[in-house]
Formats: sequence, C-alpha cells, structure tokens
Amino acid sequence: MAIASTNPATGETIREFDALSDSEVEEKLATAARVAREYRHTGFDERAAGLRRAADILDADTDTLAATMTAEMGKTIAAAKAEIGKCAKGLRYYADAAPAMLADDIADADAVNASRALHRFQPLGVILAVMPWNFPLWQVIRFAGPGLMAGNVGLLKHASNVPQTALYLEELFRRAGLPEGVFQTLLISSGQIEDILKDPRVAAATLTGSEGAGRAVGETAGAQLKKVVLELGGSDPFVVLPSADLPAAAKTATTARCQNNGQSCIAAKRFIVHTDVYDEFAELFVAEMAAQKVGDPTADDTDIGPLATEQGRTDVTDLVDDAVAKGAKVLTGGTVPDGPGWFYPPTVISEITTEMDIYGEEVFGPVASLYRATDIDDALRIANDTDFGLGSNVWTTDDAEIERCIDELEAGQVFVNGMTTSYPEISFGGIKNSGHGRELATFGIREFCNVKTVWVG
Ligand code: NDP
Repeated sequence: MAIASTNPATGETIREFDALSDSEVEEKLATAARVAREYRHTGFDERAAGLRRAADILDADTDTLAATMTAEMGKTIAAAKAEIGKCAKGLRYYADAAPAMLADDIADADAVNASRALHRFQPLGVILAVMPWNFPLWQVIRFAGPGLMAGNVGLLKHASNVPQTALYLEELFRRAGLPEGVFQTLLISSGQIEDILKDPRVAAATLTGSEGAGRAVGETAGAQLKKVVLELGGSDPFVVLPSADLPAAAKTATTARCQNNGQSCIAAKRFIVHTDVYDEFAELFVAEMAAQKVGDPTADDTDIGPLATEQGRTDVTDLVDDAVAKGAKVLTGGTVPDGPGWFYPPTVISEITTEMDIYGEEVFGPVASLYRATDIDDALRIANDTDFGLGSNVWTTDDAEIERCIDELEAGQVFVNGMTTSYPEISFGGIKNSGHGRELATFGIREFCNVKTVWVG
C-alpha cells in the first residue's frame, strides 16, 4: 500500500510520501536505542511535564489537526475534534496518575525472610507501535501516554493512509520538549516491520489493527520471545432485554454502530434483542439509523462521513450483498450511493443465518445485524457465538440479568446500559481473536514494564 493521504470524501490523493530506506530506518533505530538508555533515568516529573505540554499543544492545534485527520481518513470534523480533546485529557491523566500506578509494590518481607521485598516497575526500552488509521491520534496516544510515563521509547509505524497525522505525532512530542528521539515516526510499509521487530534493540511491540496484521506481528514477536500486546478486531454484541429503556437503547445502539463512520473495533455490530421487545426495538432502531445524516465530513451537521478506503467499502458491500443473496432482509440502507467518495449508508439487516459471511466476520462500516433471541440464554448463546471477544453491551434493569451478563459474556469488556467506550482511566483489550494484553490503566501501563522482584536480606 502506498504511503499517501487520499481524501475518502473525494477519492483524490492529497500527498504521497516515500518509505524510509534501510539506512534511514537504521538511523532511527540507533537513535531510539541510545535515547532509551538515557530516558529511563529521567524522573516522573520531567516526563509528566512533557506530556502536559503535549496536551496544551493539542488543544492549540485542534482546528488544523482535525482538518488533517478528516482529510486523511474521513471521520467527521466533530469526531476529529472530540478525539483530539480525548487525547489531551488522556495525556494529562497519565501525567498525573502514572507515578502512583508505577510506585513500588511492597510485598510482605517477613513472609519471605527479607528485610525488604517489593516489585519495581522498570521500562522495557524501545517499543514498536503498529497502529491503524481509524482513530489516528487516539490509538497512538493510548500507547504513548502510559508508555512514555513508564520510561519507554516509542517507534511508530502508522497505517499507510494517515502519514500526515503520523508525522504530526513525532513533531508533537518534539515540540513538547521531550528528549529528541523519544518518540519517532517510521514512514515504512508493513513489509518492513518484520526486520525491525527482529532487531535486538527493539524490546516489544504493540499492534492495533486487523486479525491478519496481529497474527503476523504476533508470530514474529513470538519467534523472538518478545512481549506483544494485540488489540484486534471485534464483532461486539449489543443485547437488549425486556426491561430495557428501549428508546434510549435504540439511540445509543445507533451511536455505538455509526461512531467513526462505523469503523471502530468496539462498535456494537450485532444487535441481539429479546423476542418480547424485538419488534418495538427494531422499529425505533431502524428509524434512528435511517435519520443519520451521511455526507461531507467537514460539515458540522454530518453524522456519517465516507469509509476510509475504497477497499474498506468493497469489504462492507461484499458482506451485505452476500447476506442478501442468502436471504437476509434489508430494513434500511444497503445500497452504495452514486457519486464520488467511499460513502456507505447506515444499514440494518435481519434474518441472518450462520451460512452468511456477515455472521462470523467483522463489518467495518455502519451496518447493523439484528438478531431475535427467544430468551436470555439464547441471547447469550448468540452473543458468544463468535471468534471475537473485545467489547460487549447489555441493556436491562434487572439486577440478576446484569450479573449474569457480566459473568457470561465472553469479552474483555462489558458495558451495561451504555456503549463500549475507550476511557483513559479504565483498561482496554480483548480475549479470543480480539487479541491479548491490555492497554490503559494500571494493567496497561505495566504491560511494557519489567516487573522486577526485589528481595533484600
Ligand atoms: P490493518 O490491520 O491492515 O492495518 C493496521 C496496521 O497494521 C497498519 O499500520 C498496517 O500497515 C499494519 N499492517 C498491515 N498488515 C500487516 C502485516 N502483515 N504485518 C505487520 N503490520 C501490518 O487494517 P486495515 O486498514 O487493512 O483494515 C482492515 C480490517 O482491519 C478492517 O476491516 C477491520 O476489520 C480491522 N481493523 C481493526 C482496527 C481496530 O481498531 N481493531 C483498526 C483498523 C482495522 P499498512 O497500513 O502499511 O498496511
């Protein structure tokens, strides 16, 4: 894939970039390794001050940066601004909270015949971050905020369609006054990743993206015995039970499915509704979905912009067409509009069977699959009948049902009477083919730490 910014609303290429040569990559690796040896000795105050300055720069740059993000990957301008605000908040949060998350964990010295026993959290060193285009700023900050506070150094391989945002990120940390080389962007193709990950100067990797990319990076990291955190796709269930507030559920379901033009790993994708409230929910949900305004992502009143790539729209179209050919019913949407840009309308389909590709695959676009469940057992069965296990959602006011769903939904996250959201303050990640490891919070920040056991006699 060429490294280029192409406007998904028009299909026009804005700028193209050359991939770094082997010698340029070598230079960046050498810098990263050298800086990592020094940066690990900086204090939390110095790191935190850098993150806070980066947050201030993000605030100041919001309008221009949002325009770049929208032009590169098509998210609405409102969504781009909200993402930037969340990144600033996340950086400030880790500047404040990381020292306590990484403070020595004191163990029972008497129990191990020591005068002192503890766990100390030390940085691993250079971390390679392979990141996707869908939240081009937040996916990176989610790693970089905690990672830099922990004393690690970042090498970013961003998705090939968001090079300007990728370059901005390197510049951001430089302008914030963090040591030169602490965070570097590598404009490279995915084919260049393997050698970099094999390099002994790279300690570990984190990847957010598709299952295929996750397997490739996971295999290389595994062969090198390197730690890897994988945040892959999802096909999150959104379970609606009879006691739910149906209008609120239908409204949130629409946001949960259409956020980021339908391209979020934690978007709710399968809507599993108890038969007693199925018809009423379906009517409300279809009306909400159909009312979404699709169009120019730079307009303030647009709800859904184009999909980020032409291939992405083809993938979505193929899944819907396959389902329809095998008997699925389209309740709204389902037809590619005429005109330029890679738009796809908000779509709801029902009567889905296991033979349809859409049953098992992630749909990365604003397409909702609607399922009728006979009871809560059936709803949980359908919800868990997937290879993915990222987020999950359930709507009910019944305490026993809430507890059961928390216990039995096979996912890294469960959100009750709400939608799965990535908050800086709580951890994020999945099970099954959605990956492993965690980002954010205490669990995430410690992923790229050496948990050093200390015993003093
Ligand atoms: P990819 O997984 O291909 O891209 C994500 C990142 O991984 C990019 O930086 C990409 O680089 C890199 N990459 C791709 N292939 C490899 C590989 N073999 N080895 C190492 N790195 C690799 O996502 P796509 O953009 O192609 O989207 C396809 C599907 O991925 C979507 O339909 C969706 O299902 C899923 N996805 C999930 C995301 C999530 O948030 N979990 C985010 C984005 C996509 P390059 O761009 O140069 O190929």
